[in-house]
Amino acid sequence: MTAIDELIRRNSELGDDLLGDRSTPEPSLHIAILTCMDARIRVFEIFGLLQGESHVLRNAGGVVTDDVIRSLALSQRKLGTREVLIVQHTNCGLNSVTEDGFKDELEAETGLRPTWAVEAFKDVNDSVRQSVQRVKRSPFLPHTDQVRGFVSDVHTGKLTEAE
Ligand SMILES: [Zn+2]
Repeated sequence: MTAIDELIRRNSELGDDLLGDRSTPEPSLHIAILTCMDARIRVFEIFGLLQGESHVLRNAGGVVTDDVIRSLALSQRKLGTREVLIVQHTNCGLNSVTEDGFKDELEAETGLRPTWAVEAFKDVNDSVRQSVQRVKRSPFLPHTDQVRGFVSDVHTGKLTEAE
């Protein structure tokens, strides 16, 4: 059995007792949360989120890329969000690779060097600050006054604001 089979099985057992508002695609808290794809970050649990309350964007690192700006532009301009919460975390996989190291590895194996940035980082606080600045400086986003960045401890779920 594959992991997909297992998840499809679990879905088939889903009850009908999910809490939340399903009447509109506009998040009721008017917020978008960006975080890492890391499997240990239980984003709904650490913020007590209900269905319908927040957009949740995830990628490797929880870093602001062009694709994140694309989603945030739609989120703010078409779906009414006005705040952005960025959450990166301790013990992130992007902390254990380097920009050139990973690109060299891909190039050696495939003959192709990716044009995208790996977004590797040494200091997670620096990475969070950089992502906050990318949101604030984006010409495509109308709401950039409430943008804050935090580091989540993967062991406790507790947040520390990156300053
Ligand atoms: Zn991560």
